Amino acid sequence: MEEIFGRGGLIAHAHPDYEYRPGQIQMAEAVLRAFEERRHLVVEAGTGTGKTLAYLVPAIAAATARGTRVVISTGTKNLQEQLMEKDIPFLQRVLPKKFTAAYMKGRNNYACLNRIKKAETMPVLDNFDDVDYFDEVRHWARDSPTGDRAELTDLPENLSFWRHIDARSEICFGQKCPDYDPCFITRMRQRATDADIVIVNHHLFFADLALRGGEYGQVIPDYSAVIFDEAHQIEDVAAEYFGSQVSSYMIDDLLRDSQNLPITDVSANRELTKSAARIVRFGEQFWAGLATHDGRGEEGRYPILPGTFAHKAKTGEIEATAVGQSYLSLDGALHRMETTLDALKEQPPEVENIVRRIREVRFHLEFIVAGDDRRYVYWLERRGRGTFLRASPIDVSTLLQDKLFERVETVVLTSATLASAGNFNFVRERLGLPDKTDELVAPSGYDYERQAVLYLPPRMPEPRSSQWADEAAVEVTELLRVSRGRAFVLSTSLSGMRALYERVAPKIDYPCFVQGSASKAGLLEKFRATPNAVLFATASFWQGVDVRGEQLSCVIIDKLPFAVPSDPIIAARQRFIEEQGGSSFYEFSVPQAIISLKQGLGRLIRSATDRGVLAVLDPRLRTQSYGKLFLKSLPPCRVTSDLAEVARFFHQKSGAVSPKSKVKLPA
Ligand code: SF4
Repeated sequence: MEEIFGRGGLIAHAHPDYEYRPGQIQMAEAVLRAFEERRHLVVEAGTGTGKTLAYLVPAIAAATARGTRVVISTGTKNLQEQLMEKDIPFLQRVLPKKFTAAYMKGRNNYACLNRIKKAETMPVLDNFDDVDYFDEVRHWARDSPTGDRAELTDLPENLSFWRHIDARSEICFGQKCPDYDPCFITRMRQRATDADIVIVNHHLFFADLALRGGEYGQVIPDYSAVIFDEAHQIEDVAAEYFGSQVSSYMIDDLLRDSQNLPITDVSANRELTKSAARIVRFGEQFWAGLATHDGRGEEGRYPILPGTFAHKAKTGEIEATAVGQSYLSLDGALHRMETTLDALKEQPPEVENIVRRIREVRFHLEFIVAGDDRRYVYWLERRGRGTFLRASPIDVSTLLQDKLFERVETVVLTSATLASAGNFNFVRERLGLPDKTDELVAPSGYDYERQAVLYLPPRMPEPRSSQWADEAAVEVTELLRVSRGRAFVLSTSLSGMRALYERVAPKIDYPCFVQGSASKAGLLEKFRATPNAVLFATASFWQGVDVRGEQLSCVIIDKLPFAVPSDPIIAARQRFIEEQGGSSFYEFSVPQAIISLKQGLGRLIRSATDRGVLAVLDPRLRTQSYGKLFLKSLPPCRVTSDLAEVARFFHQKSGAVSPKSKVKLPA
């Protein structure tokens, strides 16, 4: 690894911005050892370590030496694209050994040739304005090399007809499809089968892992090793795919597709029309009943409470509630359609597909409505016009042990934020890492002592106090005057964000942007392009946001980012730990919030020349015993409670350290 990453190494000769980074070499050697010894490894590599190359180089070495395939799973499609467009071509130029790489996105990013063909003769447009876009997609799909919609850069993100022509697994006929050979998914799978390195994202990885062994779900070819970048996200993604889900959209799509089946049998068609009408009627009752049952029709995530579908009557008998009755009627109507289709003598792939989808919907709906498997949390989510019913495993550790850690030779988990209070106990416990997993905290390439200051205001009320919003606004206003804008103000809730924005924006002379006023990408673009701008935002800007240089010189965080206990999954995880005799606060809430806080800090210092101030307004960092765990987990930067000291830091030239800067924290 020294020969590649060292001062006179291959990368030093080829990369214009090369820097010698001891943490990078340490990490690369640890990853190589994990491959050689067929072990698992967890690595925290803070920003500035150069972790992407530190895992790619050993992965390529292992794949080419052994002739096996290594999968790299990233947190986002953007990171996937960055690997494929930047890091992989660079290494293909630099490394002496030739290797091949392919990327795979989730199936719904790709067009389905079969559905596009059918869409030419049946209506798919909900919105007449989309007709030009549809023509554009149709022409593009004829010649596209990949079928990935990202090739069409001017296509709006929320194009209504895309879900009627995408290549999601449930609509796929597999090898029975007449377009199987030219199919974009077939070709993508082929490219991946021929590659040494396959780049996927966590959503595709876990969707594939959950369906592995099935006929239509599996797309990722077999692999002997996997590296998860942004590994702090994988518990949530795994829980999403190892559970059950039924949405109102799934039933709508099923109905729509069932009405276009190539069936000539007149009585079967009559029967199907009747069943479809019943599914519509009982479906409407069912979703409306769920909305009134918990008294809220608003967007959000809610637990499905006991007694939603059945309760104990005065007679002592268990009887269905009104929404439970709607479920039984809906299930009956679905069953009737399934039976009609199943009885047909001729079963083209379209019919088989609908029968399979009805069975899946009925199976998952029954599981969610029964709600009696204590390993799952049952919840619903309202988003846009859709309702999603879900059952998610509360604890994914045993599932991951069985399906991942025991089956794959080497699993490497890395992220800038995986350790809390200096250890990996939290991530080990949550993900079920085997005891013999190796660990490494790779030192960051940045000099935090010189580059950053942590500011903790000397007097702030408790976050629940009635004076909180006013006092926080005073602090933020003063800080922004000192920093001359150039800041992110990150809140843990939308209401907190709005309260700060409304109180602070009128009092400062710098341009202010607020989350929700434009798309995330649009807001970031404006922030980068506007001198002295301030952006007020919440959790979605805590991760994966990269603003380099002076434009972002201050990150202000209002409260310690504890996960919201009203979220059904968080509440279920906390309850589970308590039931096992543990402390959900110290074993879950604190380490999880530490990792989130470190993510927030990660927005500030993005290069070796960046300088900035992180301010955390929450007094619990100093007043509560667990505050020390947070402070111990942050990079070793200077800490101060003196705003004048912060002002001096902003006036200093890069590199100078004030002799007064080592302000001691109150005991
Ligand atoms: S194989 Fe599946 S995804 Fe591919 S064209 Fe056919 S139906 Fe669509």
